[in-house]
Amino acid sequence: MREKMTDLSFFPSEMFDKKFRYDGGDLGAQCGQEGTSFKVWSPFAEEVTLRLYRDGSSESFLERQLERKDRGVWELEFPENLHGVYYDYLVRNEGKDVRTADPYAVACGCNGVRSMVADLRLTDPPGFEADRRPDQKEENIIYELHIKDFSYDAESGVPREYRGKYKAFAVGEGQELPACMRHLVGLGVTHVQLMPFFDYASVDESGEDSQFNWGYDPLNYNVPEGSYATDATDGAVRIRECKEMIQALHRQGIGVVMDVVYNHTYSEDSWLERMVPGYYYRHNEDGSLSNGSACGNDIAVGRSMADNYIVDSVLFWAREYHVDGFRFDLMGLLTVELMNRIRRELDKEFGAGRILLYGEPWRAEESPMEAGSIPALKQNAELFEDGVGFFSDDTRDAIKGHVFQSKVPGFVNGGAGLETQILHAVTGWRDGGAGFMPKSCRQIVNYVSVHDNFTLWDKLILTMHGELRQRCWEVDFTSRFEDVLAANRLAAFIYFTCQGNLLMQAGEEFGRTKLGEDNSYRSAPEINMLRWSQVEDFGDLVEYYKGLIRLRKRLPGLCDKSPSAFVRITDQKICGEGIVSFRVDNRSAQGAEWEELQIVYNASGKAFTAELPDGGRNWEVLADGGEADCRRPAEGSKGAVEVGACSGMMAGRRTPNKK
Ligand code: CA
Repeated sequence: MREKMTDLSFFPSEMFDKKFRYDGGDLGAQCGQEGTSFKVWSPFAEEVTLRLYRDGSSESFLERQLERKDRGVWELEFPENLHGVYYDYLVRNEGKDVRTADPYAVACGCNGVRSMVADLRLTDPPGFEADRRPDQKEENIIYELHIKDFSYDAESGVPREYRGKYKAFAVGEGQELPACMRHLVGLGVTHVQLMPFFDYASVDESGEDSQFNWGYDPLNYNVPEGSYATDATDGAVRIRECKEMIQALHRQGIGVVMDVVYNHTYSEDSWLERMVPGYYYRHNEDGSLSNGSACGNDIAVGRSMADNYIVDSVLFWAREYHVDGFRFDLMGLLTVELMNRIRRELDKEFGAGRILLYGEPWRAEESPMEAGSIPALKQNAELFEDGVGFFSDDTRDAIKGHVFQSKVPGFVNGGAGLETQILHAVTGWRDGGAGFMPKSCRQIVNYVSVHDNFTLWDKLILTMHGELRQRCWEVDFTSRFEDVLAANRLAAFIYFTCQGNLLMQAGEEFGRTKLGEDNSYRSAPEINMLRWSQVEDFGDLVEYYKGLIRLRKRLPGLCDKSPSAFVRITDQKICGEGIVSFRVDNRSAQGAEWEELQIVYNASGKAFTAELPDGGRNWEVLADGGEADCRRPAEGSKGAVEVGACSGMMAGRRTPNKK
């Protein structure tokens, strides 16, 4: 067996799977009234020793060897409920003991160094067993949020001790909500997509609160991050507070999408590597680690036990934390087979399509996949299950310009020749045009900004004014940048009128800036945090986004996720440079307020006159460059509606007998 360990072609083989693949789904420490069982998978270990501790730092009070079972599994059982006991393992390979925490741990101590046994029922906050996922809404409108960004600002209204923490979401329940939560609830989004909140390594959980990281550096996949908890040393606290956060969001009718990072780990010296050396990482032919993630190591998705690990982890978060969706970081490093398997497993347990599943359909670099594996990249969209979605970088770039080349504009900020692209984006690229073919717009996530790259505001300033001149937060942006505000509204108007799911970066609706920082993954919290006073400063823009969100939910022609939804989009026209228009068949079995929509995007510097049919009889303007979700009769102007420079316009024909 020894020589087999170094032969990497053995790991993905049928021979390996026949002997060692374990599908029990019960690895880790299971703990309840009936006792505690420890199970690890380590097929080549010569010996595995469990060590138990009273806390995260003291000497072990008990050491005992696990018993070797079939299929590379080792096991040890105790009749007691060991909730709150900390543990790690010594794994002996080639005569050498290596200490490791449990890669399957569901709880851990400070900085994730030791695992903790958890009877998870004892970690539920009051009422958690009655917590339910919010009902599915007309549309998925997702708000990308970092837990620390949300409430670090004193203006968030959150008490100091809870700022930047899970607890911030649960403050003031039943009473008056703090400003940040009030804004979030009032905005009308259906989901938050929370940036990594599994346990990551780059923030010292015993250190200062002023540390910051996005968290794309997994340490313990099945444990919540400790720096967002009020006490990182007691392994139960982070679990309870994370659940409280999700429960509080659910009470407000908001679902929680978890940002998951199964493509790489913080370091290749991970618990997975220590438990089964060489198995969980991809290697190049020369034996070096592959680096498709640009983070130094790629998880060997495509090997049975790596895939099982990820499936088990996703199901765990959905079951235990009632998570409503998953956003896969660098999904292109994973396989179509695995993503489809996760889709099927989630559907089986929670109902078809009930849990959102989407990811980044790209990778940083090439990565040597196992033979026969198909990477979960955009160009393989046809092979995805319909319920596996992905971010539409094509839509993003067409609207606002290239994400890396700061000065390259898109449709709304001066880019030329993008009319056709923009019209393709409206159908979620279902009419072709981008070298890939989604099965339906259900697969498409439309957006113009996320945590990566410039904020929308900064990108617009850079392309329209050449440089970011403001160097402090107090500048009155709004009076100096009317043109930027108009472009921002048009950008939002466009993606809110594209078919597919919608996603926005938190603060996009109030001119969020990072002062030109395009990769703030470890910048100060002051650069990253949401500045809640801007909600007022940018009040008109906030109202515009709110209006778009309200309006979108009432437009079945745009919310339709069926494979044939794209045929609702008709009469696509390029009306001039930077001006396009189209119609939407907005009828629905439930009865829509407007049976037909006419939409114009005018990114040009001149006003454009749109002609509505029948002299505008029965038509009303539903949105323009200044207001979204308005309702102005179009008859007075005989159906000629002026669409101002750099603005969008939507008109709807009332459905007969509908008010
Ligand atoms: Ca951590």
